Amino acid sequence: MHEPSRLCSGCRALHEPQLGSAWCGAVELGDERARICANFAPTLLQNVRPNVAGGRAGLLDMWRAVSGQLRSILGEAGYRTWFEGVEPIELVDDELSLTAPDEYTRDWLEQRLHPVMRSALNMTGHAELAVRYSIEAVAEEQCADETGFVGGALNPHYCFDEFIVGRGNRLAHAGALACVSSPGATYNPLVMYGGVGVGKTHLLQAIAQAVHERGGRSALYVTSETFTNELIGALHAGAMPEFRDRYRSLDYLLIDDVQFIAGKEATQEEFFHTFNALYESGKQVVITTDRPPEQLRSLEQRLRSRFSCGVVADIQPPDLETRLAILRSKATRFGRDLPPSALSALALRVRGNVRELEGALNRILAVADLRELEPDLDLVRELLGDDEDERRCSPADVIQGVISYFQIKGTQLASPERSRNVAYPRQVAMYLLREDIKLSFNEIGAHLGGRNHSTVIHGCDKIEQDMRQRARVRFDVQAIRQLIYGVR
Ligand code: ADP
Ligand code: MG
Repeated sequence: MHEPSRLCSGCRALHEPQLGSAWCGAVELGDERARICANFAPTLLQNVRPNVAGGRAGLLDMWRAVSGQLRSILGEAGYRTWFEGVEPIELVDDELSLTAPDEYTRDWLEQRLHPVMRSALNMTGHAELAVRYSIEAVAEEQCADETGFVGGALNPHYCFDEFIVGRGNRLAHAGALACVSSPGATYNPLVMYGGVGVGKTHLLQAIAQAVHERGGRSALYVTSETFTNELIGALHAGAMPEFRDRYRSLDYLLIDDVQFIAGKEATQEEFFHTFNALYESGKQVVITTDRPPEQLRSLEQRLRSRFSCGVVADIQPPDLETRLAILRSKATRFGRDLPPSALSALALRVRGNVRELEGALNRILAVADLRELEPDLDLVRELLGDDEDERRCSPADVIQGVISYFQIKGTQLASPERSRNVAYPRQVAMYLLREDIKLSFNEIGAHLGGRNHSTVIHGCDKIEQDMRQRARVRFDVQAIRQLIYGVR
């Protein structure tokens, strides 16, 4: 294709490859496919249409044109993935303000999809506009409905049904459920802490929605930022009594990201009193933070000690098995059929938090749609790179795979226990450690509670024979390999 002037001339991705690309095939496909980038070429000046006249109607018209263009660049599914929840707010001084439904989408829009947006603006004659994204003010708009439920618009997906329970979040999940069924009891306050993107907000909002569904009780989900802003607003407006009434009449107070309250004295003071008032009248308080309460250094001692009189549950990033389950559930929810090998390969490569996992899945789907390909293993490999561990993984991974598949404990595998439901998994582990990791019989024995050489040889032989004769054993071994490596 010889159209050098058109190729990627307006495409930031090609000039700044570090941007990566979920939308521009050129960077990944090489020049022969760079024609995709013709989409990003700026329109000629004479084609530029007059600027938006202003007013809400003008804004909506303009947004309709721009989003139509976005749709044709990204394809229907790609468009829906990223822009479905985006809405125009205003256009002031050549700056177009848009809302994004959440932080994650906003980050993608700002970082990765910026060139696409530029191109859509160029093509619709709005080359001069700058774009600013903000997050929908979800928690801020409070509303009370007839059930007495108070709360902002909650993300409908942040419910218990869509929460996958795994090793890392089991306690927090159980605590959240207990708060719904018996508020103000053992789990009061419930403190859930964990790093970014592990599901704190999801669980907190799930409580709010479950309380809402049951009816009869009031629950308020707020970020500590909103709490602080409302408090300051009330102070300025001389409306503290109303502020107190509102918060202290709740059955559930659910405060997200309490670490942001730390260090703000007036807010802490009020929060302490609100907390006490609720706590003492047996109301349920649930808070989340990004670290354990005792490490919230700038949080007053008395608040810290209040927090620790309930249940403190940490949330760990998901393990391999949970990552797989999350991916499966999200893919199903999107109505997308990804082959198991692609899902496992994704779970294996994206080891961080759930938000990253969702991001990677969205990216695979968006690129697949853009190129009209199946979102398969090859695409995962291409976009996320070869995972060396896929073939060379550690003995610990194999053991982990075996115990999570058979749902037994690591200590059981290493114990003298000989019941069939432990002995069989142990032999499978021996077989895999031998076949795939090429450990010596002695090494294998050492990994499995110090078993001797001949026990290990016997175990390996047994599985090898059984695999020839019994479909069930073949299936088990294959399923575990899939869990460990993603493929085969
Ligand atoms: P945090 O508040 O801890 O930063 P979020 O609750 O915002 O994290 O979660 C980030 C994203 O991951 C959300 O889209 C959420 O729905 C999803 N998520 C987190 N944990 C789970 C889980 N266990 N099952 C399903 N989705 C999850
Ligand atoms: Mg959060």
